[in-house]
Amino acid sequence: MTSSICNISITQQDCQALDAQDPLRKLRDQFQLPPGVIYLDGNSLGVLPKTTAARVADVVTREWGNDLIQSWNKNHWFELPQTVGDKIARLIGAAPGEVVAADTTSINLYKVLSAALNISALDAPHRQRIVSERSNFPTDLYIAEAICKERGLELLLVEPEDIAASLTPEVAVLMLTQVNYRTGAMHDMAAVTAAAHANGTLMVWDLAHSAGAVPVDLNTARADFAVGCGYKYLNGGPGAPAFVWVNPMHTDRCWQPLAGWWGHAAPFAFTPDYQPAPGITRYQCGTQPIISLAALDCGLDATLAAEPLGGMAALRSKSLALTDLFIALVEERCAGHGLGVATPKDHSQRGSQVCLTRDEGAYAIVQALIARGVVGDYRAGNRSADAASTGSVDILRFGFIPLYLGFEDVWNAVEHLRQVLESGEWQQPEFNTKNAVT
Ligand SMILES: *Cc1c(COP(=O)(O)O)cnc(C)c1O
Repeated sequence: MTSSICNISITQQDCQALDAQDPLRKLRDQFQLPPGVIYLDGNSLGVLPKTTAARVADVVTREWGNDLIQSWNKNHWFELPQTVGDKIARLIGAAPGEVVAADTTSINLYKVLSAALNISALDAPHRQRIVSERSNFPTDLYIAEAICKERGLELLLVEPEDIAASLTPEVAVLMLTQVNYRTGAMHDMAAVTAAAHANGTLMVWDLAHSAGAVPVDLNTARADFAVGCGYKYLNGGPGAPAFVWVNPMHTDRCWQPLAGWWGHAAPFAFTPDYQPAPGITRYQCGTQPIISLAALDCGLDATLAAEPLGGMAALRSKSLALTDLFIALVEERCAGHGLGVATPKDHSQRGSQVCLTRDEGAYAIVQALIARGVVGDYRAGNRSADAASTGSVDILRFGFIPLYLGFEDVWNAVEHLRQVLESGEWQQPEFNTKNAVT
């Protein structure tokens, strides 16, 4: 069995050899992967690190069960959002003390969008508009819509190619997700941030599909605000705390609106008035989920274990090699079955996932693959979207997480896809009934 990538024939044996030479291969041993499964959905829910179950059990039985309330000091529960935040900072080009792990991505977006608008109102009160991308993840758009209603502002949604032209003097904030959750297309963070700033617009980035997936350098890009997700590439577990970063030049300029006691300068003074803590601590609201933070800490340690092996740069090279291989194998071995590739082939515009399109059967094909142990997911096209945009097409979505996936996994996944298409297996009725969660 052979296929070609960059005109060089590649075989299943070649993939095995690539795995054998891969210096990152041993990182896979940190995870408890179910046998017989090729998991291509770590961009939606990351996998379980082997350390997590024991750590969570220890937090529950010893720290909570035995040490009880003393754990806030003795077991450093109170600083956990900061200590976990400092580990995230290493992955996103932020300095220690600039990130907290807290709340959810949606809630953190509400905080940073509000803060950005507060700062814009001080510096440029005539700016009354937020711009985002129509194909952004819906919760980001819903939060922006709610804030606009609350403040009487306007939300303008554009296609990616129209972002530059949308930057007019009315725009207070440009809010984008760096890597698109459907297509895997990636923005150039430094270039887009510079274009926003040249227009006097503040830049809010959502790193849900970037943190732990691609190298991110918020400080070099001079971004203003960022949020991101703990349960995708950071392997923090379902509903893991999210994170928030604010450029230090803005942090102390204003309150964020969810001014709870964990963001107070002296929470245990119990004063009736609010005094925000200096720095990123003011972006906490109330008591944070300690058990979930401990699980997220384990996920981060598993990612940071790549640091001595080249860190995010090494993970990125492997991720691109995996996605290149997947695209090349699909194009050759699944040719003639109506699949398209929606993800950009240009490395500088690709995150760590590949999305395939098909006019019909996308959902059923994904279900047939899952039945074979190849777990990806399906995202429905928005039929009301502009037919010319990828927003209108159904998508088969596959995430390639270099921490625990190898080259032979890619080969095997494509071989299953080929068999599902060639046999027509996906047309069986059991693969055509939709579940509540897709
Ligand atoms: C996954 C994701 C979220 C998730 O938000 P929650 O508040 O955790 O539900 C938000 N935004 C983007 C872009 C995402 O990809």
